[in-house]
Order: sequence, then C-alpha cells, then structure tokens
Amino acid sequence: MVIVQSMGDGRYAVPSSRDETRLYIVDLVGRTCTCPDFQHRRAGTNRGWCKHGIEVQAQAERLELIEKARRCSDEQIANLLPKYADDPMVSGALRVARAERKAEQQLLDVFA
Ligand SMILES: [Zn+2]
Repeated sequence: MVIVQSMGDGRYAVPSSRDETRLYIVDLVGRTCTCPDFQHRRAGTNRGWCKHGIEVQAQAERLELIEKARRCSDEQIANLLPKYADDPMVSGALRVARAERKAEQQLLDVFA
C-alpha cells in the first residue's frame, strides 16, 4: 500500500512509485498534484486526477479519521473503541492513534 501522509489543510504527501524518496504533494482542496503527469498533462484540463490524487482520495476518509482520533484523549479513545467495534474505519483509526501514543511513550522511556 502507498503511504500517504497528511500535511494538513487538505494537502497530502505521496511517494513517487519510481523513486520512493521523491514526494509529490496532492492538494485535495485546490485539486492539484506536483507530479509531472499532473503538471504537464492534466492541470487546467478535464482529464481528472493523476494516480497520486486517486490514491489520496481513496485514503482521505481514513486519514481524516486518524487525524480526529489523534485529537482524542486517552480516555476518549478507551470509551470510543467499544462503541465503534463494528466499524472497521473508526475503530482502526482509534487503534492507530493509540498505537502511536504507545510507541511515542516507549521512545520517551528509552531516552528518559
Ligand atoms: Zn500526481
């Protein structure tokens, strides 16, 4: 799976499929991508999204839920998880936020 990172304000960083160290920026609000395909062949036309835009659209809902879960307190996450047990998108996002905190705490413990 392509790793898409939210940069806020509807912007997402997507690695190039040819060179994973190269990132393209997809702006869902402005409907642009910084890749050559979009810049040279799609911008200002009705040809639609490049593959990065398509990927971001597919992942955006999940990423937004993760952003929301990151803003929850530990207690809120603990309370919400059983409520959303049947919703894989929401419970998945809550678990991601919880796992990130655990990993962060483990890292802090190492350097304490
Ligand atoms: Zn693109």
